[in-house]
Amino acid sequence: MTDKTSIETSRDQEMFPTLTAAQISRIAAHGRVRHVEEGEVLIEAGEQTARLFVVTAGQIETSAMSGTVQKTVAVIQPGMFTGEVTMLSGRRGVAQTTATEPSDVIEVDRADLLSLVQKDSELGDILMRAFILRRVMLIARQFGDVVLVGSIHCAGTLRVKEFLTRNGHPYSYIDLDRDDGVQELLDHFHVSAADVPILICRGKVVLRDPTNEEIAACLGFNDAIDQTHIRDAVIVGAGPSGLAAAVYAASEGLDVLVLESNAPGGQAGSSSRIENYLGFPLGISGQELAARAYTQAQKFGAELMIAKGAKQLACERKPYAIALEDGASVPARTIIIATGAEYRKLSLDNLYQFEGAGVYYGATAMEAQLCGGEDVIVVGGGNAAGQAAVFLAQTAKRVYMLVRSQGLADSMSRYLIRRIEDNPRIDLRSQSEITSLEGSNHLERVSWRNNATGEMETRDIRHLFIMAGAIPNTHWLDGCIALDMNGFIKTGPDLSTEDLAAAQWPLARAPHLLETSLPGVFAVGDVRGGSLKRVASAVGEGSIAVALVHRVLHE
Ligand SMILES: Cc1cc2nc3c(=O)[nH]c(=O)nc-3n(C[C@H](O)[C@H](O)[C@H](O)COP(=O)(O)OP(=O)(O)OC[C@H]3O[C@@H](n4cnc5c(N)ncnc54)[C@H](O)[C@@H]3O)c2cc1C
Repeated sequence: MTDKTSIETSRDQEMFPTLTAAQISRIAAHGRVRHVEEGEVLIEAGEQTARLFVVTAGQIETSAMSGTVQKTVAVIQPGMFTGEVTMLSGRRGVAQTTATEPSDVIEVDRADLLSLVQKDSELGDILMRAFILRRVMLIARQFGDVVLVGSIHCAGTLRVKEFLTRNGHPYSYIDLDRDDGVQELLDHFHVSAADVPILICRGKVVLRDPTNEEIAACLGFNDAIDQTHIRDAVIVGAGPSGLAAAVYAASEGLDVLVLESNAPGGQAGSSSRIENYLGFPLGISGQELAARAYTQAQKFGAELMIAKGAKQLACERKPYAIALEDGASVPARTIIIATGAEYRKLSLDNLYQFEGAGVYYGATAMEAQLCGGEDVIVVGGGNAAGQAAVFLAQTAKRVYMLVRSQGLADSMSRYLIRRIEDNPRIDLRSQSEITSLEGSNHLERVSWRNNATGEMETRDIRHLFIMAGAIPNTHWLDGCIALDMNGFIKTGPDLSTEDLAAAQWPLARAPHLLETSLPGVFAVGDVRGGSLKRVASAVGEGSIAVALVHRVLHE
């Protein structure tokens, strides 16, 4: 039988493996041998140029901030190597690397390391596994260059936490209402409790209620990316379809850039457990799936710009160009639009007041933690709403599920309907609609009406999950591309002769399967009219589109 200690030991060995002499000599072929003196700093925390060191004699140490204290992360001895996922992304590292003895090391640059990971599958596996486990450890032990000061009663805090988590960025969290010594920290940085969420970035820059874009800029998420050269493919959106396209395109040697207005994962990133995706019989959280796909895309060399939304498509000339929200413009030979859709909001005047403070559009472990032991409401009759209800019922006292239709049969998978029916904690209210929300800083009370009987009900409920259908993210296309009557993108055989004539389709051939009314511009996943609105179909379409991109590039 395997005991816990041996599992931990084998995990430690995977996180900090000792390479064989043969493996070290294969790495040496990609790097340069150096002697370093005791006390020499090989990498500063926050340094942009990612480099890996293999120790062949002596000892080096990595250390990082944990809250406001510098702590040792790992001691690297002969045969071991430094580095974590920033080696793949090119982002600034969070740890400092220092020689603690006179040492001999092999230094490998990021570009050489990427080529090694792709070509040498044995070393690629060892390095990738170690990098990923080390990042998980940094996150779990709250090592990192970011301290977030916030409050569970503050919507902005939840947003910042979600942004950092979905970007896999480690941070220390200090709660205004629970942790001691907060005042000293606030005084030190000349901020007050009224400024939360406060992000202290690399111990220097203090951001008050920052936007996601400001956080990405402060942490240098996009600094290593060249936005100016013409890419084979620019993928807009890093949900499942965009990430799949990125993995396939980059692994097939295309020069790929992904633009993501928020963080990787898309809608799936807010799913607590995806159970119908092939190969995961026990289910997988959307965040984990996205994190794996993101690392996989980077392994093959895809680059991903975070918190950089596409604002407009310049479609009148080639190469096409995508204007970003910050005013920059990215040129592209082909484009894959994977911008998905967003949940419909309820038409209640004060809804925005409670978003993140009792009103949520996703149900992950983070939200479940906030409403444990309380009554909650889930609005919506689709699979996402069904999953949220089943998931929240594990920790909530009671889940009221409100749907406008007469039942769930037309909109939800049978397996979920059965689980909802069998769950004594879920109370399904059909033909029901929310009429008002009340509360001051946080949602406190919700009223709804049964449209069949006219009966009103009001309950003291502090948590409302809205999952009521989707609106496509196509506003930025601005007349460049044919859309259907609901604003989803028309592709391939769905484009009528009239659509093509209106778009002045210039080619003798008809549009390819996932091609839009603009040659070389494809649409995949939820943003595409007629798509299935499932993770598997989004991933499938993202990968199929890459085969068609190749065809267009060869035309
Ligand atoms: C809570 C929840 C649970 C779900 N559970 C399941 C499930 O169990 N099984 C299943 O099969 N399906 C599930 N779904 C549906 C599934 O998540 C979607 O079908 C899938 O995510 C669609 O992927 P996508 O890449 O097409 O779009 P999305 O996931 O919507 O991703 C689009 C991405 O594009 C970005 N974006 C938007 N506009 C721009 C712009 N202008 N510039 C740059 N980036 C932009 C967005 O920020 C987003 O990251 C669930 C959905 C939700 C919300």
